[in-house]
Amino acid sequence: MEAIIITIDGPAGSGKSTTAKIVAELLGYIYVDSGAMYRAVTLATIRNKCETIQQIVHLLNSLHIELKMSPFGQRTFLNGEDISEEIREPIITAKVSFISSIKEVRTAMVDLQRKIGAQSSIVMDGRDIGTVVFPHAQLKIYMNASIQERAKRRLNQMKSKYSESTSDISEITEQITHRDYADSHREIDPLKAAEDAIILDTTVMTIQEQCEFIVKKAKQLIYNE
Ligand code: C5P
Repeated sequence: MEAIIITIDGPAGSGKSTTAKIVAELLGYIYVDSGAMYRAVTLATIRNKCETIQQIVHLLNSLHIELKMSPFGQRTFLNGEDISEEIREPIITAKVSFISSIKEVRTAMVDLQRKIGAQSSIVMDGRDIGTVVFPHAQLKIYMNASIQERAKRRLNQMKSKYSESTSDISEITEQITHRDYADSHREIDPLKAAEDAIILDTTVMTIQEQCEFIVKKAKQLIYNE
């Protein structure tokens, strides 16, 4: 049977990854977090103290990034090392938009994403998955939510993960606004909705409602149910 591809793009904190994970599970597909790949490259550039784009591009050839499923969800590996927690650190989040704006970085990650998509049915979330990586995906969703709601969700996520987190709502709002601006204004493959994407505003939706909506669309469009 043909591999099915569902793409979920959108800005930071729009609920993409939580929803994509559950939708993949419900449909029996593999969930792929493309942002984790850009975060892995960012971590490598920090560890290797890269100071120029040339150094970053050179480093790319020595990086082996893998996403593997485990009983604890998807894990990200960099040259065999599990870096799943480290790539969520604020220093990575602060630098990832710059690293992901580099043409050679994008070319390498898009290649990797397409290889994964050729192997099995997937739900992949990111910024350019419906527009660039899989323009012929069977179902494309573009998720959005108000900046206030996205900042609130991110703050709750930080507090439940890092109990010692001292971030406040205004700081998070500023960080998200800054990252979204960088991601949607970069020259190469900026964040935007594909023309044939279904726009889903999740501001007042629960995770369950978001998942039900996407699974229903998938069943209608892909399986004619
Ligand atoms: O999804 P997440 O917030 O982890 O993504 C981190 C960053 O990776 C984004 O802010 C963006 O700069 C970059 N990214 C991208 N293209 C994708 C996925 C993520 O440029 N497909």
